[in-house]
Amino acid sequence: MMSLTDFSEFKTFSDIQGRFDIALDLLLNKENFSRGVWPYNLYQPEVSCQYEKHGKRCSQQHQKGYIVACKDGAVVLIGHCCAHKHLSLDDESLRASFKMLDASERQASRRRKVEALLEQRQAFIEQGKAVHMRHRELQARVYEVESALPRQIWHKLVERWKSNSLEVIWEYQTTKVGVDENGRKVTERAWYPSSYGKLQGLGIWLQLGAQEYAGQISDFRKQLELIPVKGHLTSAEIDHAETTFNSVAAIKGIERELESQFKLLEDFLNLSNLVLTVQLVSNQAIRAETVVAVHQLTGQTLAGKPDKFVAEIDLDLKRKHDATGVRIQQ
Ligand SMILES: [Zn+2]
Repeated sequence: MMSLTDFSEFKTFSDIQGRFDIALDLLLNKENFSRGVWPYNLYQPEVSCQYEKHGKRCSQQHQKGYIVACKDGAVVLIGHCCAHKHLSLDDESLRASFKMLDASERQASRRRKVEALLEQRQAFIEQGKAVHMRHRELQARVYEVESALPRQIWHKLVERWKSNSLEVIWEYQTTKVGVDENGRKVTERAWYPSSYGKLQGLGIWLQLGAQEYAGQISDFRKQLELIPVKGHLTSAEIDHAETTFNSVAAIKGIERELESQFKLLEDFLNLSNLVLTVQLVSNQAIRAETVVAVHQLTGQTLAGKPDKFVAEIDLDLKRKHDATGVRIQQ
């Protein structure tokens, strides 16, 4: 459907011909006239009037006139004098009726779209339900992880994710003992960084509760149910249905987001990654608690005491670099 602005500015005959296939040989009269389509006001009087007067074509060359439709659908041109005199056409009434036609055509087109989407209503309802279930599943998984890990570790993870500082670095200290030129004993100490790797799989799931997914999903489901199941919707119902269907894309977006969060969570829960969480704080008691959580979350059996596990990590780093101390990078 062309809009008003699309052809409001015809300035030449060829402008008109670019838009309409004008039946130039046809004669227009009261009997075959259907409706005015659009007025024009050209630079030059280059158009010949197609109105039939006294059995022959008027042929008056004119600048100002109308594009009109015949009953058989053909489109012809008529000068404004003939149009006014014989068909009572004028710009105002033509524009007004065009606007009405335009508006009703738009409304009909919206209705067709809504009705086509309504055929998929059940599929959308199922989709809404499935997304809702997936969201609850993700919530449950996240809750499981959050409640297994010590609070401080959870907060560290959120912090790390937000600041995108994913690398877990500890430092080790080396001590060199020597003798200076005066024969005095000298001790040199230095700290060096050592990376345990980068945290994998952090994402929105860390703040799932702060997202508006649940509200959006349940609102979508509720609005879908509110669309009446009947043949002919009222204009208000069309408005409401259209708004509801407009959020299908958003729901699909949430669905994709949830799936990618599941994937991230899965990456996070890999033992080789999860064990990095033991290294996020220096507090030995919390690290030991984290060791228990890591084993719980991965279903691994913890052989020995958790604090021994922590001590082993530190000892490994010391051995590797022949270090005299280790500490978390501040
Ligand atoms: Zn004429």
